[in-house]
Amino acid sequence: MSDHNLFRGSIYHCVEAAGNIRPVYISDGLMVVDRESGRVVEVGDYSTLSLKWDISDSLIHFEDRLMMPGFVDTHVHYPQYKVIASYGTNLLEWLNKYTFLEEQKFSNEDYADQIANLFLDELIKNGTTSAMTFCATYKQSVDAFFRASEKRGLRMAAGKVMMDRNAPEGLCDNPEESYRDSKELIEKWHNKARLRYAVTPRFAPTSSSAQLKQAARLLNEYPSDENNKGVLLQTHLNENDEEIAWVSDLFPESKNYFGVYEDHGIAGNRSVFGHCIHNTEAEYQRMAQTESKVSLCPTSNLFLGSGLFELEKLESYGIDVSLASDVGGGDSFSMFKVMNEAYKICRLNDFNLDPVRAFYMTTLGAAKVLDMNDSIGNFEVNKEADFIVIDLNATEIISQKNKIAVDINDILFNLMTLGDDRLIDEVYVLGQRAYKK
Ligand SMILES: [Zn+2]
Repeated sequence: MSDHNLFRGSIYHCVEAAGNIRPVYISDGLMVVDRESGRVVEVGDYSTLSLKWDISDSLIHFEDRLMMPGFVDTHVHYPQYKVIASYGTNLLEWLNKYTFLEEQKFSNEDYADQIANLFLDELIKNGTTSAMTFCATYKQSVDAFFRASEKRGLRMAAGKVMMDRNAPEGLCDNPEESYRDSKELIEKWHNKARLRYAVTPRFAPTSSSAQLKQAARLLNEYPSDENNKGVLLQTHLNENDEEIAWVSDLFPESKNYFGVYEDHGIAGNRSVFGHCIHNTEAEYQRMAQTESKVSLCPTSNLFLGSGLFELEKLESYGIDVSLASDVGGGDSFSMFKVMNEAYKICRLNDFNLDPVRAFYMTTLGAAKVLDMNDSIGNFEVNKEADFIVIDLNATEIISQKNKIAVDINDILFNLMTLGDDRLIDEVYVLGQRAYKK
């Protein structure tokens, strides 16, 4: 028995060099994965590699299937698993009416365990193998999530929501407590197995100035160096007009919404800002200069009626952008659906989101936003073999459309426009099968 697992089938991923994204499509390919480490050893044409590797054992052949890196969802809320599809409100009302009520249940660790497991099963079933998620304010909600992730061997980032005002009392912490609890969680989980901690002030309206400073303190206490990855930071920015007006009332001394975060020391290349729909020119500029990262959440923006983001503008400023589901504001766990709605939002701004770019923003580009592109996002040598196996004939219409596809771009566009979880036939984590439809 060899030390490798061999996977044969069509392969798609993209590579990036000097800012250029290059799609790689191999119609009959072979991927070689080291069994012990779960890392990619080699990817190439089957006809060439089958001469080099012993294909007499350990070969799995995916016929009429496309292997692709697992999706990376850079902005999602696992405690909102059951908030998804809540009727009839905009952001601020939706938070009060649905979200803040549900999140209080996560003080119960058994409930948190149950939802964390359901949530991860749903992600996997949709082909998402990595994510960065908000938890609730309670430490035990983070423990539950990391435990469930570790059990599945997943690469995940998560953090305890910091929130000390403008929310139900039972859901609020205070600046010192949120610092202490976050720090305890960092010591316990950060850089353990494939897990990474994200400092998580929910958004400016629910954090006092004192609390935002504690978030900055954590970011500074756990920087990246050559041996260790630093903690990340996740929050929301410029999602909804009412929210923006509220922030300017709460923080009159800051120039704008992004300025609130920058003034408190939490902008930068480890910080990921969700939404960024209504950014001003000055905010785009400062985001670019501070190398801050962005998660765009099209399904959520449409569901809550928050507005239409400007992808072309983010790109023109050279800001790293990814796509994300934002469940439960978003109404689907499927990154195919997310790409589909992103395409339509771009159309409303008279801009075309090409499929190579869309898939980049849900795989390698998303990994880059989470500072994980050295380990996931594509099939370069030594990357962790988290991949999905897409059934190109999962539905009649997709099958028919793929038959008349001229090239891989056509196929990718069919998938992102017509696809959902039915396309995900199998999911592999570190080269081991984690799901089969
Ligand atoms: Zn969100």
